[in-house]
Amino acid sequence: MTPPVPSGPVPPVPDEPSLEPWQWPEDVWRRHVSRVRAGRDLTPVRWPGGAQVAVAISFDSDHETIPLRDGETSPGKLSQGEYGSRVAAPKILSMLAELEVPASFYMPAVSALLHPDEVEAYVEGGHEVAVHGWIHERNMLLSRDDELDLTARALDTLERLSGVRPTGIRTPSWDFSQNTLDIIAELGFTYDSSLMGDDNPYELVADGQPTGIVEIPVEWIRDDAPYFMMERYSGLRPYMPPRSALQIWQDEFDEARREGGLFQLTLHPHVIGHRSRLVVLRALLEHIREQSDVWFATHADVAALVRPTTTAPTDHANGTNMTTGESR
Ligand SMILES: [Zn+2]
Repeated sequence: MTPPVPSGPVPPVPDEPSLEPWQWPEDVWRRHVSRVRAGRDLTPVRWPGGAQVAVAISFDSDHETIPLRDGETSPGKLSQGEYGSRVAAPKILSMLAELEVPASFYMPAVSALLHPDEVEAYVEGGHEVAVHGWIHERNMLLSRDDELDLTARALDTLERLSGVRPTGIRTPSWDFSQNTLDIIAELGFTYDSSLMGDDNPYELVADGQPTGIVEIPVEWIRDDAPYFMMERYSGLRPYMPPRSALQIWQDEFDEARREGGLFQLTLHPHVIGHRSRLVVLRALLEHIREQSDVWFATHADVAALVRPTTTAPTDHANGTNMTTGESR
């Protein structure tokens, strides 16, 4: 047994520059851990329509911002991002339309400004467009004011280009600073999709206090980049054939379905959008489509469904509050 984290607001984590982590007193490491934490499991007893599993597919349309955020301006590097918008995104949109799968597209504002027609195509396809930073900045390096300013400008820019004010955010590279959750709350987002505290949706808790903000959790396992990325000047190389990723994602989906949970996936047009990898995406979506008990949703749909407004999980299949007191 571990003692519970003290309830009620706690002061910010003090800076302990003079101490090594192994010298920290207990209250310091406890406060670090409780700064942002997983609260209530928000998995509904049933998904809409009585579905056994929810499927939320997402794409981070980073394109040129990956090199740009590090000041990399070589045309060679930028052309990899150009491929993501020029070739991959249209193919992905066509496949999603054919298979009738809604998706969420997280787009850095600079990427959206470079490709405004792509933003329109996402909206026309019935997909969600949501925030992914300004230029894929590393928020861990920013002051609170800078992080707030960039996130606010990204939100306004996407609203202007898409015609809809985004309700969700995925931080660039899933980095999360000590200020990120405060900024998410301050800007009125209803959900975040950057953390890894569960497989299923949960409520974010800040310093012991429930926030009402939904987390749609991600994982590197359910991301294309770790399997396929290559860094020319380092030892980083893809270490398995694309179809091995298919097996992993299919197993993740099958187990989510068996548990009655959420299958969430993060892809990148410039990564998954190559011929040999789109084969994998098609096979995965067709496998999911073969099941009759799937609820396809955007991340915003999932967040709106599970957003904590009651003290007990709701049976969304028939609209009644189950008052079981326990989520599964
Ligand atoms: Zn990204």
